[in-house]
Amino acid sequence: AFQPASRISSIGVSEIVKLGAKAQALKREGRPVIILGAGEPDFDTPDHIKEAAWKALQAGQTKYTALDGTPELKAAIRDKFSRENGVDYALDEITVATGAKQILFNALMATLNPGDEVVIPTPYWTSYSDIVQIAEGKPVLIACDAKAGFRLQAEELEAAITPKTRWLILNSPSNPSGAAYREEDYRPLLDVLLRHPHVWLLVDDMYEHIVYDDFRFVTPAAIEPRLKNRILTVNGVSKAYAMTGWRIGYAGGPRDLIKAMAVVQSQATSCPSSVSQAASVAALNGPQDFLAERKASFQRRRDLVVAGLNAIEGLDCRVPEGAFYTFSGCAGVLGKTTPGGKLIATDADFCAYLLEDANVAVVPGSAFGLSPFFRISYASAESELVEALKRIAEACARLR
Ligand code: PLP
Repeated sequence: AFQPASRISSIGVSEIVKLGAKAQALKREGRPVIILGAGEPDFDTPDHIKEAAWKALQAGQTKYTALDGTPELKAAIRDKFSRENGVDYALDEITVATGAKQILFNALMATLNPGDEVVIPTPYWTSYSDIVQIAEGKPVLIACDAKAGFRLQAEELEAAITPKTRWLILNSPSNPSGAAYREEDYRPLLDVLLRHPHVWLLVDDMYEHIVYDDFRFVTPAAIEPRLKNRILTVNGVSKAYAMTGWRIGYAGGPRDLIKAMAVVQSQATSCPSSVSQAASVAALNGPQDFLAERKASFQRRRDLVVAGLNAIEGLDCRVPEGAFYTFSGCAGVLGKTTPGGKLIATDADFCAYLLEDANVAVVPGSAFGLSPFFRISYASAESELVEALKRIAEACARLR
């Protein structure tokens, strides 16, 4: 019989993908399922970006490019880091890959030896721990308290660090919690890292442009230049520019690390897509005004969903600072019984009930390493969100 390699045997296809497939299958059967599971904006890629791709095709940019990014895209990324983040990276401190996911893959494959530890606060984006495991490292998960805004605390980090710790991974704003770190939240963590020179920091800034109210986004390399030589600042065009399908992610970091990552990439994909790189140049160098409009639209939806969830007995949702997710507590519905007589013992049971009885697909906290919670992706039409909230409220009212 087929035997997978041990490095992937503990990793399944992501819970999110599985749930999504089930919800899609129900929908195909004709059930009116509302899917609030997807991690992508519902906007389309702006026209000027599509036009840049079309022009690149017409100009014959259809060949392999430089291994880890075209000079044009690297220059656009350098300018972006400097303009928006106040961090200066030279061109050879910048790398481009097929999505931020491949950036993470390259970085972890290039640095982890078997058994090396990577500290990951939960709730976390599932890929962090899965990629660490593919790279034969060991994820060290730290549960973050909702009361602390799902943010890692300095003493928790200090306690988790061992001689085998290679990386700390932070993600702000976070998928799935929407929580974001202010400068004063980062500061104590960076102080801990200053005391542990063997630990590097991978920051995932994917949702930088999706922050609400007066939240001011900052990135650690700007806050603490003394750590810049062991920080990998990861970002991408997927979420900000509604370009998930174009598959372009990038990072700035120390030259030697960037070089090692290119070694991995050279044997995985040779280079990112030429056309997508040309489009990404237009995204980063082009007009940025539509970002504010889209953000305002996301903020309206955030407010609607948070208010709707908090009006439901048994649910408890913190107001997220960014991204397009809510991560709501559901401790108050555990121990109850469905009209069909099933006990809701876990957040996964609750989400299964919502799908079965209310035709709403959401993802349980267990998929992100923290229970009992569930994630809603509110990058859907407001009318769908209103309907979904109504169904969730009715489903909760039917529990006994
Ligand atoms: N980082 C976070 C936190 C994400 O949520 C995602 C996508 O869901 C990514 C990175 C990957 O983005 P991409 O590979 O599309 O650049």
